[in-house]
Amino acid sequence: MHSAEAVKSLIKFNHCKRSIYSFEVPRRCPLCQEALGSAELADAPVSISSPFSNGHQEKCSFLLRPTQGTFLREYDGRSDLHVGITNTNGVVYNYDRSGVQRDRTGWEQSLAVPLLQPGMLGLQHQWDRYLEDFSAHGAWLPHRYKEDHHNCYSYSLAFINCILATEGKKQLDKTEFTEEYVVPRTRLASKYIMLYRAIEEHGFYMTDHASPEAHPP
Ligand SMILES: [Zn+2]
Repeated sequence: MHSAEAVKSLIKFNHCKRSIYSFEVPRRCPLCQEALGSAELADAPVSISSPFSNGHQEKCSFLLRPTQGTFLREYDGRSDLHVGITNTNGVVYNYDRSGVQRDRTGWEQSLAVPLLQPGMLGLQHQWDRYLEDFSAHGAWLPHRYKEDHHNCYSYSLAFINCILATEGKKQLDKTEFTEEYVVPRTRLASKYIMLYRAIEEHGFYMTDHASPEAHPP
């Protein structure tokens, strides 16, 4: 089950020489209990937008989501991820042991990496046909699936390499792909998830200005 649960955005404000994260600016500082009129805040609260988006609203993008559950609830930094590619209508093409799937639901809480540079309209017009033709290739028949080395990543990377070739760009190997498309996104997601869960549990989360380390309450 992937619920379409709304992801609240976070805000960060400064008080008591700390950075405090919360879902909204509280009436009182959770540390000193001083009332937080806007005048008492040294800086305007900064909004930290969610790294997640509804994958079905992302055109021509690479998507990641946990194989089981959602990022906010179940992801622990090591969970298996499932990945896919959207067409121009938000249908998510992805490869699993049943072959190429064309999902219209289930990717509502995804990390998305746009694959088209702005202005590549010619490519955008042909995108859906490229993706459909690519997916019809025998390499993506169900019996070819191998969990370790011919899987959803292989499928997405091979398609991205087709697009890069069309754009006259260098192909990516598995390591470059992971370092460029996967790790920066999951790292950002992990940080956000940590803050989010801490705020849900305690109402706020704080860090020392001096150090990025968590400060025990
Ligand atoms: Zn305070």
